[in-house]
Amino acid sequence: MNENDLIYSFAKAHVIEASGLIALMMPQTLGAGVAVKAMDGRYTLSNQVMQGYFGKTPQQFESLTDADLFPAEVLAQLQQSDAQILAGAATCSDQLDCWVNGKSLQCLWFKFPVHGTDGQLLFIGVAMLDTARMGNIDKMQKSLELLQNTNQELQRTLIELSKLASTDKLTGAWNRRRLEEALVNEMDRLKRYDHPLSMLIVDIDFFKKVNDEHGHSVGDQVLVKLANVLQASLRASDTLTRWGGEEFVVLCPNTTLSTVAMLAERLRECIAKTTFPGVGQVTISVGVAECMVGEAWENWFKRADAALYRAKACGRNQVQIAPETPQRGGAGENVAANFVRLSWHAAYECGNPVIDEQHRGLFADANHLLSAVLSARPESEVAELVNTLVRDVVQHFKDEEVIIRAAGYPKAAEHAAIHSALVDKAVVLVKHFHDGTLAIGELFEFLAHDVVARHMLGADRAFFAYLLAKPNS
Ligand code: GH3
Ligand code: MG
Ligand code: MG
Repeated sequence: MNENDLIYSFAKAHVIEASGLIALMMPQTLGAGVAVKAMDGRYTLSNQVMQGYFGKTPQQFESLTDADLFPAEVLAQLQQSDAQILAGAATCSDQLDCWVNGKSLQCLWFKFPVHGTDGQLLFIGVAMLDTARMGNIDKMQKSLELLQNTNQELQRTLIELSKLASTDKLTGAWNRRRLEEALVNEMDRLKRYDHPLSMLIVDIDFFKKVNDEHGHSVGDQVLVKLANVLQASLRASDTLTRWGGEEFVVLCPNTTLSTVAMLAERLRECIAKTTFPGVGQVTISVGVAECMVGEAWENWFKRADAALYRAKACGRNQVQIAPETPQRGGAGENVAANFVRLSWHAAYECGNPVIDEQHRGLFADANHLLSAVLSARPESEVAELVNTLVRDVVQHFKDEEVIIRAAGYPKAAEHAAIHSALVDKAVVLVKHFHDGTLAIGELFEFLAHDVVARHMLGADRAFFAYLLAKPNS
């Protein structure tokens, strides 16, 4: 293991921010020994100069403490300066006369704190200057200043590095660590304010084949382009994380399952239409889940991952949703928001068995249609479901008009007019569907907002009182 490996493994094992220390390890021309001591007092990293002073190999130096390196009286002095750093001092130095490796050595032992991005003290940095070797004090002073500057640079480097440390090198997407940080806040907002929070897991289909057929670096370029295309299709508040390999997570704050399912479908379509240089077409499978109230990240992720697994098992190039949605108070608007799977609530009943039965049936029709569209079922199957829904809506409107007229609802004619406008709109959508120009968003908008939220739970409520007053008349 050479020094670079050591620095690398150190940065990896501890805090990637501390890899700004690499900058400190560089000025070896100074003749300064540099080392980093963890909070348990063990040296975790040292440069060659430092190892040379003590005649140790990098491996030997690792995990030594001051007690292993210095006699008792020196140790006491060093502990005092450690205490100063622990108390918040920016720097401090000791002049040491000591026997090191069988030789008398007069040195300047300079310490500085190494903070993480959150300001927490992670390590005590040490620079050791052999005063004999330094020649004159002036020169040493300069070296110290230089080191102090380096320390300030280090702090700046740390900030830079923490940015770097939060993104994936290849794609520029967030890395897992950054996502985990964001999750803490977002899940807190869900808990406190009941803000919805949804997630997509995106996995490239048969990516191994891309590598096998075109080589790893072409595969890398696919990852880069895919990340760019996904990123460009997201809203500002959505974030893209490279979860690992060819798997990405999109976190969508303030977004319910219905919206995120549409987003997923849009992303899938967008990727399927993209041409990847040297490869051609690439498809993705997507699993979607909304975080339940009080749900742990692991469980939420597991549900999204299970949906992704279904998407793979059902033939790939498709979106599958984890059907559970959090229960939220209120009807109307929230129904629209939670629309992917409409669930029937007692509050939706008007008391007339025919109307209630039909309303329930429409919910079921809409659910079948939406899940078929979202899971990219064959067109013939979707067409069948569109026909069923439209047929049932038309029949329901007819029956409902008869019932409310019989119940003496004074605005029956106006209500019938609303029905016919909705039917007109449905006819347009069906035409779009057959032309192949039906956007899923349009369909959602119609079913969730126009038919269910505004009509069934809005306009229909106006006649509930009449039906309750004269049930089945
Ligand atoms: P599936 O449709 O079931 O997801 O098949 P798949 O081949 O995409 O899945 P699998 O998990 O078998 O293979 C994932 C491949 O992704 C294997 C690995 O070589 C490749 N991969 C992971 N990370 C990278 C990367 O950074 N660059 C490149 N080029 N390939 C990567
Ligand atoms: Mg995978
Ligand atoms: Mg894959």
